Amino acid sequence: MAVSMERVTCSICKRGEAFFFRRYSGERLCKRCFVKSIEGKVRATIAKYDMLKFNDRVAVAVSGGKDSVSLLHILAKIEEDYPKSSLVAVSVDEGIRGYRDEALKIAEENCKKLGVEHYITSFKELYGFTLDEIVAALKGKGENHLTPCAYCGVLRRKALNTVAREAKANKLATAHTLDDEVQTVLLNMLHGDVMRIAREKPFTDETHPKLIRRIKPFCEIPEKETALFAYVKKVKFQTVPCPYASEALRNDIRFFLNRMEEKHPGIKFTIFNSAEKIKLALEKIGAKENLKECSLCGEPTTQELCKACGMLQKIETA
Ligand code: SF4
Ligand code: ZN
Ligand code: ZN
Repeated sequence: MAVSMERVTCSICKRGEAFFFRRYSGERLCKRCFVKSIEGKVRATIAKYDMLKFNDRVAVAVSGGKDSVSLLHILAKIEEDYPKSSLVAVSVDEGIRGYRDEALKIAEENCKKLGVEHYITSFKELYGFTLDEIVAALKGKGENHLTPCAYCGVLRRKALNTVAREAKANKLATAHTLDDEVQTVLLNMLHGDVMRIAREKPFTDETHPKLIRRIKPFCEIPEKETALFAYVKKVKFQTVPCPYASEALRNDIRFFLNRMEEKHPGIKFTIFNSAEKIKLALEKIGAKENLKECSLCGEPTTQELCKACGMLQKIETA
């Protein structure tokens, strides 16, 4: 929330002019202290979940949007403190005409500016189809097909793991914010898929040698603040929304959570912390997955066929 009225000083440095009121903590922050607080929060999250080791090779998933570009900038700064570690960026071109091309260009520009190596893969290269082709193939087939986002999500998850492995990374950092995490918890509950809550962790377990461990250093930072960070730091990011953005239920949940947060500041953190407790409880009752390799592509999966191969088979027969 922007602070207007007369000049209000920053709660931290007591000198700068406050431009942001953090309702859940009661702090009023100047731009400098705000940036420092976000960087400090990311460092604290990394320490809390023991996400990084001094010699890690971290792949940051960069889509070109505000969250991923901000994460790249912050991790590039943190990485400077660890001479034995290294950082690369990885991107997936889903093949969405007029949308992803621009985002990738922006991702590339940010990588160049920071001197970070950038690895790109595409749906076309990995699966033989662009997302546009998948959507066209499934259109009007009369069956109860999933949304473009459902295909995109599964195929991108696998592609990110593949490209991170090619980049020889041992950690894959994604820019999921507190909002993303809390929305996903509620979404899984509303879909009746409670076991998925246990799988979406801030730092995933080591479950299979082919599965790069994922970290979410923004998991305790509200989306509003990652966006503000990008504006204040003047980082370039893509603002155009994806033409297929259609997750109706997630949008309803986002709207609901934002209203709740307005009325009850800090409620998103409460849900996040509740989900962490649920995850611990699920672990105790042995909700861990046993991974084997997909009989078609060899990637880790709980089923005979991984989700991506299952989807691709559907597309080929569509
Ligand atoms: Fe993919 Fe949906 Fe995101 Fe578009 S909005 S990039 S289709 S997940
Ligand atoms: Zn200040
Ligand atoms: Zn497979």
